[in-house]
This record gives sequence, C-alpha cells and structure tokens, in this order.
Amino acid sequence: MVGHVPVGGGLYGTTPAPVVVQSMTNTDTADAQATIAQAYALWQAGSEVVRITVNSAEAAAQVATIRQGLDAMGCSVPLVGDFHFNGHKLLQAYPDCAQALAKYRINPGNVGKGSKRDEQFAAMILAAITYQKAVRIGVNWGSLDPAKMAQMMDENGKRAEPLSADALMREALIQSALESAEQAQALGLDPNQIIISCKVSNVQDLVLVYSELSRRCEFPLHLGLTEAGMGSKGIVASTAALAILLQQGIGDTIRVSLTPEPDEPRTKEVVVAQEILQTMGIRSFTPLVTACPGCGRTTSTYFQELAMQIQRWLRQQMPVWRSEYPGVESLNVAVMGCVVNGPGESKLANIGISLPGTGEVPVAPVFVDGEKTVTLKGDHIAEEFQTIVEDYVRTHYAEGGKLRARKPTVIPILSA
Ligand code: SF4
Repeated sequence: MVGHVPVGGGLYGTTPAPVVVQSMTNTDTADAQATIAQAYALWQAGSEVVRITVNSAEAAAQVATIRQGLDAMGCSVPLVGDFHFNGHKLLQAYPDCAQALAKYRINPGNVGKGSKRDEQFAAMILAAITYQKAVRIGVNWGSLDPAKMAQMMDENGKRAEPLSADALMREALIQSALESAEQAQALGLDPNQIIISCKVSNVQDLVLVYSELSRRCEFPLHLGLTEAGMGSKGIVASTAALAILLQQGIGDTIRVSLTPEPDEPRTKEVVVAQEILQTMGIRSFTPLVTACPGCGRTTSTYFQELAMQIQRWLRQQMPVWRSEYPGVESLNVAVMGCVVNGPGESKLANIGISLPGTGEVPVAPVFVDGEKTVTLKGDHIAEEFQTIVEDYVRTHYAEGGKLRARKPTVIPILSA
C-alpha cells in the first residue's frame, strides 16, 4: 500500500501484491452526481482505483462531496486527482479536495513553465506530504516537458553518435519521470509514496520505455498505453503492450485507455483490463466463458447468444458474488457449438455445455467437473443451464467453498 492507495506489485516482482486495475471517469467532475454515479459503476465493474480529473475550481470544490457520496453508497474506492497546469493552486485553495483524494497525479510536463515550474511542482509535493497522499509522477509523451526536451536535443546534437529522434524521446520521458521523482524526494516525499508512469501511444515504444524504467528504478510502475483508441484497435494495442510487460513482471497498476464507442459503457475499460490479467493467469476477477468460434458445423447463432448471455449474466452477478462466494472468480464455463470439440472442452471446464451442431440430435449434454450430469433439450436450454451454473456456484463457493460442496443438482425431467 502507498498511502491509502493499493499500488500492487508485479507477479514476478519483488512484492507479491496483485496488479491493480485502475480506470478514469469522463464526467465533468464539477457535476458531483454524475461523477459519483460513474465512479460507482467503475468500482462495481471491479475498478480498484478511480481517477477523476480536477481541472478547475468548480471541480476541486466537488471532490469532497464525491468522496462522501461514494462512501455513503458503501464504495470506498480510492480516488486519484488528475492535475494539470493548476494543481498547485487547487490543492492549496481546496484543502477538502486535497484530503479527500488518495493520490495526486502530477504531470511534470504540465506543472508550470520556466522559473515557476519548480515552485509549482514543490507546492503539489508539499500538499502530498501534508496530507500523507501518494503521488503518481505521470509523464505523457503528448505533454513532455518542452524545456527538458529542448535541453536534451541540444545535448544530443553535440554527441559523436546522437540518439535517433525516437530514442531521444523515450529517454526524455524516462529522465523527466525519474528526475521529478528525485526532486519530490528531495522535498521530503517518502519514496514509498511515489508511483511512476511514462505513457506513450505506440506499443513498441511503451515496451522499451517501461523495460528501461524498471531497470533504472524501484518505484511501482503504472502501466497504460495512452490514447489506445476505439474498439478492437484499442483493445488489441493495449493488450499487446501490457501483456509483454506484465509477462516480465513489470507493472503494478494498469489502465486500459479505451475511447468508448458512442453506445459503450465506460466500464468497458475495466472489463478489458481484468480480462488481460485473467487470461494471462495473473489474477481472476469474473468467471469466464470459453466458447468456440463456430463454423460450418453450427449454422445457427444459438450458441453465440448463449455464450454471450451467460458471460453477461456471470459479470452482472459479481458485485454480489464477490463477497458471498469467494473464489467464484476462477470458475470456468464452456459453451460449445457442436460435438467435435464440445464434450472435450466442456469436460475441461467446471461446467460446460455442448450444444447441437447442424444436423445433430437437438440435445445439449452438460458436464460438471468433467462428468456428464444432464442432457438439456427443448426451448429452455439457456435458462436451465443458467440454473445449473447458479446452483454450482451456490454449492461450491458459499462459505467454506469446495469443502462444503455437494454434487451439482441434476434437473431430473431433463435428464437423458
Ligand atoms: S466445436 Fe464444432 S462448431 Fe465449434 S468451432 Fe469446433 S467444429 Fe465448429
């Protein structure tokens, strides 16, 4: 823990703390009710830290109200204030805001210009010391400190073998973060209160920057591909970058910076971050559905709909199941399209159903812990399968978990 904020630790790192999932609201923070609602939704989806922008006096004035509102709803998710340009003023003018936040994100490139830069940076660090808060030194290549970049370009020009423009940019990001962290420590901030991030939007650059950062410092690292983009591009790019680094044990907190599509909930970024960690075997958050891609052997969309329905339903249950059924997040459910791989894959899952492919007998055998327990048929296969999953969860994960497990319920009238 750093301050009140879980900062996590890489799977293979020196600390066993789990990698923490973060997210960020896109509401106007001055609109306290909208921000409370979205932060709550992100937390319900599993976000363990929520960042909110604090960009104006109106926003800063609402931060304590947002904290209180979330607390009143039983939501203790730590809030991180995202400051640019005027954070030094806001933290001083709104002590309730400074107190309510668990962590301050400081961007060294946007903290002030010229002679004001150090003074304004110091004001934010002193606020963190006063209020005992964590600080994320969050460098971003879109807002790299121009003075730092100019100085490095000058020095680079004088080298016998100058760095390429890309390598120079990466080095500037790293130096900006590490020098700011040193500066914060010189001002009296405990190194245990410092987290570093150096975000770029290119996968290979992100991997190079973080590999180097992890070699050069011991601060916890917040990972994220900035401006990852929309839809599958954003998901794939984030996954590619984060997976390489996480596999090396690099990364203590992660955020997937997706641009939501117009009809997409903000919580999508939480789901993607969780699924990256879960599919890599690093942490489990929600029971996952294994489903086949379908092919010419199953021409109906029934199994796709069932897989989607079951996955959605499982995710919806998690806010309650998380506390009532510890361990349920590791449950594996298979929904398969035909007899070719259906029974085999279903046997490997905790619960699996092998739906009939085109031309097969319209029955769906269900496997529980590797054993065929029932064969479903008729018009209510989806509902009956859901009941079997629910029963399995109740009997296997209620207090005492598998020690108190009993054989899963078989629906007699549907047995083959
Ligand atoms: S399990 Fe059957 S339907 Fe699914 S991809 Fe394999 S062969 Fe096709």
